[in-house]
Amino acid sequence: MLDFPIKTLNTIKRILLRQQRDIEKNIAEFEQEDPVKSPALVESSEPGTDSFIADSHAKIMVLQQQLKQTSQSIGRALSKIRKGTYGKCEKCGKQIEIGRLLAMPIARYCLSDLKKIAK
Ligand SMILES: [Zn+2]
Repeated sequence: MLDFPIKTLNTIKRILLRQQRDIEKNIAEFEQEDPVKSPALVESSEPGTDSFIADSHAKIMVLQQQLKQTSQSIGRALSKIRKGTYGKCEKCGKQIEIGRLLAMPIARYCLSDLKKIAK
């Protein structure tokens, strides 16, 4: 068990839950903006907008993919909180700096390992 102040952990949990809610909302909003998935948008569009539709669809897919990845990271962090392993560096097993976790609650590595990975 890591030495984690319960108050800090609760704060991080709140941040994570809020972020997840926002992301799910964003994913749903993109879904509505996607011309491929919203026949109403396609019907109202001018002829010759096929490439525009394809472009927006591609952009939305990329953004949604990113959001889904973030959502998965948040889910992973939340399950670690439940298991009591949250805040542990997945590389060296040491506790990740609390300031870093507060700034980026989905962080999986301590700062020094992150620097090594980024190289
Ligand atoms: Zn580490």
